[in-house]
Amino acid sequence: MKSVAILGSTGTIGKNALEVIAHLGPGYVAHSLACRRSVGELLKQTRRFAPRRVALFDHASAAEFKKRCNGRPEVLSGMEGLSALAADSQADIVVCSLVGAVGLIPLVCALKAGKKVALANKEPMVMAGQLLMQEARRWLAEIIPVDSEPSAIFQCIQGARLQREQLRRVFLTASGGPFYRRKGNLSGVSVEEALAHPNWKMGKKITVDSATLMNKGFEAIEIAHLFGLKMEQIEILIHPQSILHSAVEMLDGSVLAQMSRPDMKLPIQYALTYPAHSPSPVPRLNWIAMKRLEFDRPDFKKFPCLPLCLEAARMGGGAPAALSAANEIAVEAFLEKRIGFMDIPKVDEKILKLCGASGPVSLQDVVEIDQWARDKAREAAMRL
Ligand code: MG
Repeated sequence: MKSVAILGSTGTIGKNALEVIAHLGPGYVAHSLACRRSVGELLKQTRRFAPRRVALFDHASAAEFKKRCNGRPEVLSGMEGLSALAADSQADIVVCSLVGAVGLIPLVCALKAGKKVALANKEPMVMAGQLLMQEARRWLAEIIPVDSEPSAIFQCIQGARLQREQLRRVFLTASGGPFYRRKGNLSGVSVEEALAHPNWKMGKKITVDSATLMNKGFEAIEIAHLFGLKMEQIEILIHPQSILHSAVEMLDGSVLAQMSRPDMKLPIQYALTYPAHSPSPVPRLNWIAMKRLEFDRPDFKKFPCLPLCLEAARMGGGAPAALSAANEIAVEAFLEKRIGFMDIPKVDEKILKLCGASGPVSLQDVVEIDQWARDKAREAAMRL
């Protein structure tokens, strides 16, 4: 039996992960659950899945949960609580689906404990990918991507038993988000429009990142670390149908792709059952109804977050961490309607320029850069 810890159980990925565990049956059990502060949802999940331990990042929410849970399960709180669940000797698999930089330290703890990590939380990989990969190697931990496109690449590599040297290029697909077909300037788009993703049901932060295409830039950085790719080997393709989740091209020009309906349960389940594929209730592809699959180049002018990401990757050092932190603040400000949609790349660019290129960074550096970039981004968002 596999015991699963879910860090971020009340978010979209976390909820889907619990549904997958329920479907997989007695071979998998939700050993522990963690979230930021969603007391009500976590109580519901606790009654249904009976985890041994839970953690809430927010101390006050943890205290409230404790009052309402009738003495079971064990309740932890804060970063210590999240980290304890990540490193719990009873957990075989740790699903990391927290949103943003808050997931960095728990992820490091899971890797140091040699866990199999099902990773959905991409910001830590953007911030400190090199360090995280080093830790994974050092402690014999495994990082299995949960996100659909990195999972597609992982499945292609697994399926063909590809050595890195045999891989020439990777085609990373993006739906293009809600504004792919919209003509003209995007500065007037509303929060509601940005949250109306055509193909995927996701949390707010990643949905806005998908609308700006920042998400795809982050994914490019993430897969470069995960699969040891150079950024030049990654080609981003807009694919509005979200059926082909990514593809790899081998040295001889042969291309392998992974395809399915856009449903997060599939990559989540594979991350849990890897290296096996197991039966799943996800509806099958309907080839005849599909009619056509389109591919297009991303528009860097309309979506300036994408070239910003590539620039941060080129700069290296602490630049991706600064960009990720600035973006978290900018997206938050946009969601609270304090800044416009096209102000997000403005804030991001400003912080990226301020931070400049730097050499290799330690985990402590990353944490400091993250804090510095947040403060600077708050100032920048206020001054717009
Ligand atoms: Mg994705």
